[in-house]
Amino acid sequence: MSVVEIFETMEYGPAPEAAAPGLAWIKEHEPFGLFINNQWAKPANGQYIESINPATGKQLAKVAAANSADVDVAVVAARSAFETWGKTPGHVRARYMYAIARHIQKHSRLLAVLESLDNGKPIRETRDIDIPLVARHFYYYAGWAQLMESQLPGYQPVGVIGQIIPWNFPLLMLAWKIAPALAMGNTVVLKPARYTSLTALKFAEIIQEIGLPPGVVNILTGEASQVGEALVRHPGINKIAFTGSTDVGRSIRRVTAGSGKKLSLELGGKSPFIVFDDADLDSVVEGVVDAIWFNQGQVCCASSRLLVQENIANRLVEKLRVRMEHLRIGDPLDKAVDIGAIVSPGQLKEIQRLVNQGVEEGAVMWQPSWACPTEGYFFPPTLFTNVSPAATIAQVEIFGPVLVSMTFRTPAEAVELANNTRYGLAASVWSDNINLALDVAPKLKAGSVWINCTNLFDASSGFGGYRESGFGREGGKEGLYEYIRPKWETVELPLETLHIAGDWSSSNGSGSIQDEDAESAFQELAFGSITALPAIDRTPKMFIGGKQVRPDSGYSRDIYDPQGQVIGLVGEGNRKDIRNAVEAAHAASGWATGTTHNRAQILYYIAENLSIREDEFARRIVQQTGRPYANAVAEVQVSISRLFSYAAWADKFEGVIHRPPIRGAVLAMLEAIGVMAIACPGEYPLLGFISLVAPAIAMGNTLVVVPSQQSPLSATDCYQVLETSDLPNGVVNIVTGDRDTLSQVLADHDDVDAMWYFGPAEGCKRVELASAGNMKRTWVNYGHSRNWLDPVQGEGEEFLRESTQVKNIWIPYGE
Ligand code: NAD
Ligand code: MN
Repeated sequence: MSVVEIFETMEYGPAPEAAAPGLAWIKEHEPFGLFINNQWAKPANGQYIESINPATGKQLAKVAAANSADVDVAVVAARSAFETWGKTPGHVRARYMYAIARHIQKHSRLLAVLESLDNGKPIRETRDIDIPLVARHFYYYAGWAQLMESQLPGYQPVGVIGQIIPWNFPLLMLAWKIAPALAMGNTVVLKPARYTSLTALKFAEIIQEIGLPPGVVNILTGEASQVGEALVRHPGINKIAFTGSTDVGRSIRRVTAGSGKKLSLELGGKSPFIVFDDADLDSVVEGVVDAIWFNQGQVCCASSRLLVQENIANRLVEKLRVRMEHLRIGDPLDKAVDIGAIVSPGQLKEIQRLVNQGVEEGAVMWQPSWACPTEGYFFPPTLFTNVSPAATIAQVEIFGPVLVSMTFRTPAEAVELANNTRYGLAASVWSDNINLALDVAPKLKAGSVWINCTNLFDASSGFGGYRESGFGREGGKEGLYEYIRPKWETVELPLETLHIAGDWSSSNGSGSIQDEDAESAFQELAFGSITALPAIDRTPKMFIGGKQVRPDSGYSRDIYDPQGQVIGLVGEGNRKDIRNAVEAAHAASGWATGTTHNRAQILYYIAENLSIREDEFARRIVQQTGRPYANAVAEVQVSISRLFSYAAWADKFEGVIHRPPIRGAVLAMLEAIGVMAIACPGEYPLLGFISLVAPAIAMGNTLVVVPSQQSPLSATDCYQVLETSDLPNGVVNIVTGDRDTLSQVLADHDDVDAMWYFGPAEGCKRVELASAGNMKRTWVNYGHSRNWLDPVQGEGEEFLRESTQVKNIWIPYGE
């Protein structure tokens, strides 16, 4: 096409994502084995099934077909791994899960390509939605692993979990299942859906790569009738977590009844999309596209029933047809394609059957004028009007790109129509009248209600159904309860009924957690074998606005070791340095409005960079305090764990919803305080600093920090750690010098919103006195010390509350 022609037609050119890396990966691994104990095993009966590329209908790969003998072996592996994994400290589990999240990001494009090839969904969706959400789930639940001991003290893991997932979001459903299970100390045997195993197998490779202890995650591909049923019936499994159709869910409920197995079911849906006449119709049209043509409509919570207020129905339908005419269907790997292929020929046939039935029952069907590709399994976006509420297509889940529309007159009628279904997974409400929308939302029988949006998911928020859409929630803290049981519950499954196959020892994988050879390192330090060369002189400056700047005073102060020897110099901070630091902290206020996920990421990154330099930081602590090396290493390790804790809390310390005696709700939202000043305790030069800085920045504050007066070098060594961890400039500013002089300036400063002071009693009093000027919030220790090593005293909700303020937003509703 010539440039002129392109300009005139404004046709899209092809924008294909390369399939080659995905295909090469498949070739390298074929035939795929079963993933048990971190090893690839041949299926017991030597059988394989083919996985097709739905966009071509051709074979993509051969994957192993497990049978009940393989299930036995996998369950034994998971049981024996549970003996150690179930007792592994939360921080260690958090590190493994953090590594999984990282590796998913490292392989994100390969995963996206494999998912599109195997499932038929557009690369735009796998690349921008599925895979990023998968990583997000592992990060989020790494946080709950870290916090389990302190936040769920009365609970223990359930045990071995059998997990069965569908094909519509293959890797995302895997993440929804595996991440909370591992976080809570369970081990799993997972069965991917028959059509879409490939990304689960790539995930298995990631498990090997990060060195997760063998047997914690086992993945068995194959047929439902072989693997699925064997898992459900297996006596060595403590819980079944299932996502799929309501029919299969019902049969699983029957099979597991009375067995003592815990069960959660995420099933089908027929969700309503309710449009009131004051809604913004252009947004509604885009909403509908995301509701029913996202993932070819193969979405459990797809809003497949469009309920429109009668007086705007014709206008909306007209607009929708115009939009549908412009949707692009075709090669899932084309970056400009909106709709890809249906997962399998069987599913395609089922959609066609239901659509035919809709026409027979008298509804009016409309499809765009363009034709679908003839190769592969494609179905055009389809809109039904004139649908009776009792029609088959209004009641049955079609699980394809088919929208049925009906009309209502009043809000009450809309609610009635919306709830006229045996399902209850989700609902979407569109109106520019917030009172109306909030009045309707609680009346809808659905686990998720989206207002002026649709199909939004995140790890932080629970998802699951009412009625025949199942029970149990995935996501959020509520999702954790599916994977824990009270500690007093000691009921064990009858292990003797297990058929022990093979010798699966519970070796604990090497992992990334290593025992420091503390003893010899300490000796080396004590005998001075590394003092042959004079150290390079390193005089730390101030850290302001992300830059290392000279002190305004031009003076330095000596820092001594416990024997009174000078071990370094730091800048003598003054009023001017504090002013600059406060200004820099204000300039960084965007930190509070960024996402909590991003703040968590940066805290993890700081922990990672600190751990790389563990030895150096430990030596610095020894130098400043004279404590034994092993003890200093412990301080560094606790500091790293503390950073993990606040990375975890960053997206989990949340507000609540009050229910005063009005028709309405009050959202108690937590906000950062603003610019905070922190004077660190003298003891624990690194841990004292980290324990205060981490919660304050996790909650979105920006800081001016005065490190330990006698031992500031651990904090000044952190400059480089902070600089290499993507922390925006000005979020943490550090001014060294005389604690009380600097604290006085900070406490007097009108642009400081809160001040924490950990020091002698008179200093505390001075800070409280000075704070009266602008009535800043203060938190002081009245001269009492705390044991910073102890997680009860050194971290937790007290620190988070001191870092936040509550705003109550009143939302009455009703017309
Ligand atoms: P499906 O029920 O046929 O299969 C789901 C999984 O269960 C597959 O892995 C399958 O192999 C396995 N399975 C099938 N029969 C089994 C049996 N008797 N015992 C044990 N395992 C068995 O569903 P599907 O066609 O793969 O997925 C589409 C369905 O899943 C839709 O109804 C959709 O609404 C639902 N779904 C629900 C959610 C949710 O979160 N609520 C999410 C995605 C999909
Ligand atoms: Mn496939």
